[in-house]
Formats: sequence, structure tokens, C-alpha cells
Amino acid sequence: MARIVMKFGGTSVADLARIHNVARHVKREVDAGHEVAVVVSAMSGKTNELVGWVQGMPKATGANSPFFDAREYDAIVASGEQVTSGLLSIALQSMGVNARSWQGWQIPIRTDGAHGAARIAEIDGSFLIKRFGEGQVAVIAGFQGLAPDNRISTLGRGGSDTSAVAIAAAVKADRCDIYTDVDGVYTTDPRIEPKARRLDRISFEEMLEMASLGSKVLQVRSVELAMVHKVRTFVRSSFEDPDAPGMGDLLNPPGTLICDEDEIVEQEVVTGIAYAKDEAQISLRRVADRPGVAAGIFGPLAEANINVDMIVQNISEDGKFTDMTFTVPSGDVAKALNVLEKGKATVGFDVLQHDEGMSKVSVIGIGMRSHAGVAATAFRALSEKGINIRAITTSEIKISILIDGAYTELAVRTLHSVYGLDKH
Ligand code: ADP
Ligand code: ASP
Ligand code: MG
Repeated sequence: MARIVMKFGGTSVADLARIHNVARHVKREVDAGHEVAVVVSAMSGKTNELVGWVQGMPKATGANSPFFDAREYDAIVASGEQVTSGLLSIALQSMGVNARSWQGWQIPIRTDGAHGAARIAEIDGSFLIKRFGEGQVAVIAGFQGLAPDNRISTLGRGGSDTSAVAIAAAVKADRCDIYTDVDGVYTTDPRIEPKARRLDRISFEEMLEMASLGSKVLQVRSVELAMVHKVRTFVRSSFEDPDAPGMGDLLNPPGTLICDEDEIVEQEVVTGIAYAKDEAQISLRRVADRPGVAAGIFGPLAEANINVDMIVQNISEDGKFTDMTFTVPSGDVAKALNVLEKGKATVGFDVLQHDEGMSKVSVIGIGMRSHAGVAATAFRALSEKGINIRAITTSEIKISILIDGAYTELAVRTLHSVYGLDKH
């Protein structure tokens, strides 16, 4: 007997027929004698609809923030998961499975107070372990928790993955299965490169890079938690026949295992290609070249919660002035420009320029640690396609390249093929 946490994403619970199919996956594991807890997302499109409603509301009068009340945002957008947890419980009950829905606050899943993007602080596993003891399948609403102010919080978009891994860690589950609309983690997003290959295994570190550089198949935080707590996490498909051969395999279910690097026998130099659209580039021209300038620029941006990514500072020709260029998500451009204009007198720069519609494509692989020339190959391949490189950042296991957004798909396919990742 094993203890398994099963998570089903939005497309997996998109309608009643799919919820019924999900119930069959759950029943398969229950019938095999396992202890099962389930985490569900909202029906696909539901969270977007709820967010849209919030954004359509007028701002509070006199409020000096351009944003809506994050506590009410959470109260509204957390509701999608409440519906699917109830529906799946009913579907399970109709199949004779003892199931009960639980909201984040009922367990409780405690989070910090960052409404809208909360982090899980603590889950007392004993609540769920008691349910296992009663033979009950707890169907838990993902994406939500209870903030210190005793109000519902949400974990940021895609947060149900994180709910599932955190719960798996709290109950010391043998496995956490993330069921989605693809049958595993691919060498790149299969939606834009049909030649992408499914990986049998990927290391925590590579998955962390893939997720943080744009592969939305797992929320970044879920991979961090899986890595820290050593949760055996599989990404697999909910669309396959729940009773097909091998689906109930305990050690090797179909899908991709996220695991320690030393569990991977054949390590390629490059494992995958990720991309993130909607990046914007901001440049400050003729900034005084003196100590403290970078802190003067990026300090206030950080205080405004703006996520600055690639930073390029030109070498000053005359020792007096330099140019500073960096990227932020497109959605943060207006806020960033506002912060920078306010600081103009203190920082001192001539012109502020910005370009939206950029994309960041990234090449990821642990094998890069011990292989030279990986970056040069990418630069050559992109130049042969006439794609201009605007900025580059590297780490031990990744290279990220900023390009014009119109070339995203071409760049991803080009890099995917140049490293031999296409399926044969
Ligand atoms: P869910 O609703 O189940 O959480 P998501 O839409 O969040 O599903 O994540 C699954 C999607 O992630 C896939 O449909 C796929 O298009 C996308 N994706 C991006 N990069 C990858 C990748 N490297 N491997 C697999 N899927 C990827
Ligand atoms: N329903 C939430 C979202 O769409 C959480 C999730 O699906 O993981 O972001
Ligand atoms: Mg998701």
C-alpha cells in the first residue's frame, strides 16, 4: 500500500464528463488499496473569467493604489476550486468511493499574508492522515489557503501544483502525480514544436529552470518544494484511459518523473528549451557611471515588487556615462517607468526608452556544466535564421536570449533542432 496525492488541472476537470473520467483515475488507485488525497484546479477558463470580473470592477474611491483589493480578489478567484472539489466528490461517491471535499481554510493550509501570490507556510498533515485512517479520499481545493488575517488567500496562477506538492510533503506521500493535458514534460512546449519529445525523467534543477523560464507545465514554487522535500513527482495525462495497462503501476507510471540528477542515467547536454513571451526591455541612456547607481535604479523597482530580469550595463567609454538595459514582464512596464521617472533626479539619466513585445528563449541542461560551446551553437543557429539577439544571460545550466517576440516560435524550433532534441 502506498500514499498518493493526485492533482488534476483545469483541462482535466473542464466539464462533467472529464470530472467523471478523473474520478475513474482516483478509483483505480483506491481500489488498488492506496491511501489517496486529491487536489483539484478550477474548471479550465474559470479562473480567467473570475480574474476578468475583478478587473472589470471600479477601483475604490480615494484609493491611491491603482490596484483592486487583493483580499477580495482572493475571495473571488478561489471560488473556482470550491466548485470542482464538490463536483469530484459527488462523482466519486456515485462510484462508491468514500470522498469528501475540503477547502484550504478547513484543513487548514496556512499561508503568508501576500494575498494574490501567497506562499504556503505550514500544513498540518495530521488532518489528512486522519482522513486516510477513516478510509476517506479528501478532495482538496487547490490554489488556496488561509492567510494570517484569517482570510482566504491564493497562491498565484498555476498554484494548484504547489498545493499538491506541499500536501504530498506534509503527509509524506510516496508519490505526487500531477495530471494534466499532456502526458509528461517535453523537451519544449509540444504546442509550438510538435517534434518535441517526452522526457522519462528530468532533474529537479532542470525542471526548476524550465518552469521559471516559462514552461507553465508546473508552477515554479511546486518544483522548489518537490526538490526541498524530495517529493517523487510525476507529470502525467488525465486523458488516457484510466484502466489502460500500466496506468496503476506503482513505481513506474506513464509520465515524466522529476527526480534527483543522479537518478538520470543518460544525461544529455541540453535537456529542453523554454520560452517566455511578453517581456519588455527598458533602457536608461547616459546614466552617470558611479558607485550606487545600480542600487539607485533597481532598489526602488524591487520595492515596487517589479521583477527585473536580464540586466546589461554597457562599459562606459569616457568613464562618466553608461547605458543600463534590463527586462521586466510587459504587464509591469507602466509601473516601472513610473518608478524610474520619479527617481530621475536622484539617479540622473538622459532618456528612458522601452520596447514591448520581446520574448526570452532559454536553453537548459545540466550537461552544460561540463560542456563548452553550447552558447556559441545557439548564437550561430539564431543568426542563420536572421534572428537578432538583444540581450543574453547565462548560468551554469542555462542560457537565456532576448529576441523580438515575432520570432519566438522560429527561435524555439531552431534551438530545439540544433541540439538534436527533435524526435527521430
Ligand atoms: P493544468 O491546467 O493541468 O495545470 P497547464 O496548462 O498549466 O495545465 O500546463 C500544461 C501545459 O503546459 C501543456 O498543455 C503545454 O502546452 C504546456 N507546456 C509548456 N512547456 C511544456 C513542456 N516543456 N512540457 C510539457 N508541457 C509544456
Ligand atoms: N485555477 C488556478 C489558475 O488557473 C490554479 C491552477 O489551475 O493551478 O491559475
Ligand atoms: Mg497548471
